[in-house]
Amino acid sequence: MKVYDRLFIGGEWVTPAGNGTIEVINPTTEEVAGRVPDTTEADVDRAVAAARAAFDSGPWPRMAPAERAEILTKISQAIQADMQGLAELISTEMGSPVAWATMGQVFAPSMVFDYYAGLASTYAFDDVRQGLMGQVLVANEPVGVVGAIAPWNVPLFIAAAKLAPALVAGCTVVFKPAPETPLDAFRLAELFEEAGLPKGVLSVVPAGREVGEHLVRHPDVDKISFTGSTAAGKKIGGLCGEQLKRFSLELGGKSAAILLDDVNLEEALPMLLPNAIMNNGEACIAQTRILAPRDRYQEVVEALAEKVSAMKVGDALDPTVEVGPLVAERQRDRVEGYIKIGQEEGAKIAVGGGRPAGIDKGWFVEPTLFVDVENNMRIAQEEIFGPVLAVIPYDGGDDKAVAVANDSSYGLCGSVWTSDPDRGLKVARGVRTGTYMLNSPIPIDFATPFGGYKESGIGREFGPEGLELFLEQKSIALPAGYTPGA
Ligand code: NAD
Repeated sequence: MKVYDRLFIGGEWVTPAGNGTIEVINPTTEEVAGRVPDTTEADVDRAVAAARAAFDSGPWPRMAPAERAEILTKISQAIQADMQGLAELISTEMGSPVAWATMGQVFAPSMVFDYYAGLASTYAFDDVRQGLMGQVLVANEPVGVVGAIAPWNVPLFIAAAKLAPALVAGCTVVFKPAPETPLDAFRLAELFEEAGLPKGVLSVVPAGREVGEHLVRHPDVDKISFTGSTAAGKKIGGLCGEQLKRFSLELGGKSAAILLDDVNLEEALPMLLPNAIMNNGEACIAQTRILAPRDRYQEVVEALAEKVSAMKVGDALDPTVEVGPLVAERQRDRVEGYIKIGQEEGAKIAVGGGRPAGIDKGWFVEPTLFVDVENNMRIAQEEIFGPVLAVIPYDGGDDKAVAVANDSSYGLCGSVWTSDPDRGLKVARGVRTGTYMLNSPIPIDFATPFGGYKESGIGREFGPEGLELFLEQKSIALPAGYTPGA
């Protein structure tokens, strides 16, 4: 069991202001796996003050980007040196199957740190342009003190998506992990400490939403970078708007995988299914609506049913397991609630729908395949965040499939599967989402932007666009004949 009795504030392990604790429960065993202090508003104030001082007068924003990048490279190396340990830690916190977690929860974050370390030496932080009336230096400066808020489903990955670009930009950060997953966040704090990050640049303050909201409202925070539910994102965007605080939001999704009538199912399903029930279905980019042409509907359902029913469910730490437990009992209640709603709406269960036989502990739900689903049903419109798929028939060709995919308040991700890439690209261009897969198993490439249309968010993480979320642009008109650094 991992126990911390201090908080990481301003680069030091300090005694918390309050005496509350957060218990981390292993969702496979339902036993306590760790304890950390519950951050209070007073602790957040202290963390923001440290970040403010480090930003206003510390060395970090004044260092060359390449110097800051050295710390990120060390973090990537440290993560890669302990892939197994970190994957097991995260699987113990929130139930991600350890085989998937090793790549998706641990190796992926190390790639993100490496990517931004590399970008530091190629990005034009100082861009001298010939303007309409003379030379102008466009200086890309760090936005300031960042409040970064993450969910529990891919905790280290979201931490990397925010910390890597924010730090390389020269910002200082108060990072609030979700209360379900504080242990990997504290492990990351230890790695930053070992890597020599200057004091004040990073604080890690695990807490619930009230304390999170205090961070959002804090007048000394310049920018909020939030990943989580659309409901929370709307609240946070509103609060930031009142203060004209910069913000970016990565929110929910209900992505549609479109199977065109020429799809080769044998090739497509092994790439599609791991994306549909990725991370126990607790993934914003999960392809949870599967759109099948009506004249191949039965064939698609049978092929999917065979594969979904073969998925191995069990202990998240078992490397052969494909579907682990849901993060918490309340999450299982939520998923089971949607399974009931789907049946009441008239959809049929082809696979699963209950709790797995022979497992008497842990918050498990069987991988579940709903068929005869209409796109206006709640199970097709709302984010369930569990291993539940809806197969929706469509008539009338590719345009109709695009219309069904777009009939959603979300617009995060999606995919199309076809034997004709030209047809697929036309579909990809028609669907209003931030990322798309054309016969590809890769939903996010960290060198390119990722984010949401519509209610799936505002702003783009990853790629140079993800760095620009943490930059302000300043245009400095230069006197004739002067070129900086020449
Ligand atoms: P959540 O919105 O309940 O919480 C996310 C984080 O925000 C937590 O740290 C929580 O404590 C904090 N929080 C909640 N309300 C807040 C408020 N008013 N002020 C400040 N902080 C607040 O979401 P969750 O259940 O932890 O995560 C699941 C959600 O995250 C899903 O909707 C999923 O789609 C989304 N998500 C999106 C992405 C993406 O990149 N678009 C990635 C992962 C998860």
